[in-house]
Amino acid sequence: MTQPSEPVTLVLATRNAHKAEEIRAILGAGVRCLTLADFPGAPAVAENAPTFAGNAIRKAVELARWLSARGTPGPGRTFVLADDSGLEVDALNGAPGVYSARFAALDSGAAGNSPDAANNEKLLRLLSDVPPEKRTARFRCVLALTPVMTVEPESASPVCYTDAFEIETQTFEGICEGSIDFAPRGEGGFGYDPLFVPTGFNQSFAELGEETKNRLSHRARALAALRTALRL
Ligand code: IMP
Repeated sequence: MTQPSEPVTLVLATRNAHKAEEIRAILGAGVRCLTLADFPGAPAVAENAPTFAGNAIRKAVELARWLSARGTPGPGRTFVLADDSGLEVDALNGAPGVYSARFAALDSGAAGNSPDAANNEKLLRLLSDVPPEKRTARFRCVLALTPVMTVEPESASPVCYTDAFEIETQTFEGICEGSIDFAPRGEGGFGYDPLFVPTGFNQSFAELGEETKNRLSHRARALAALRTALRL
């Protein structure tokens, strides 16, 4: 879809500074990454789809549409990259899943995301009677990549609705299997990292440190697939 020599700019559609930092570290200095901090007027997109892919696509498409109307921030090809991710715990039938960022707030009814500590406390409480062998879980990351382009406004016909931005969007998924510990350990990372022990390790993501996490993580795996597609 893009020539290897063509410079690529990615606009990261996230207000989560940790995610942006990890994406930049994993992709390295060869890929120009901008963030929403570079576009203060960018619209906020509601993340209320029932799947990670649905939310990621919505974020990428809406921001690409907004940027396209303002001209591409090139040089080379520019894409919006959205990350929707979360934790799936088997003993909780896949929860918190798409509600990972606002897991604790689901009980209080508070608006917006919950502090990481509150989410982790809730998770530990719900798993308090679950034995080690049944504490299996995985992090899942879906990346949506949408080109910023100059197009006619949305085309619609009585028989077929097409949206150029949706059609041009590609998704990439990464999964990291592991288990949930009985108490938080470590200072690194963010979110559920202090509780998540990846398969094959005895330390949590928060203890393993940035370099190891960025080799194994759901985000690293999804970005490896994206790299191949973009020939980065
Ligand atoms: P999103 O911004 O709606 O995709 O929410 C992602 C939420 O999932 C974060 O707020 C974290 O709670 C959790 N999450 C996603 N990726 C990670 C990770 O790499 N480590 C720890 N928690 C994560």
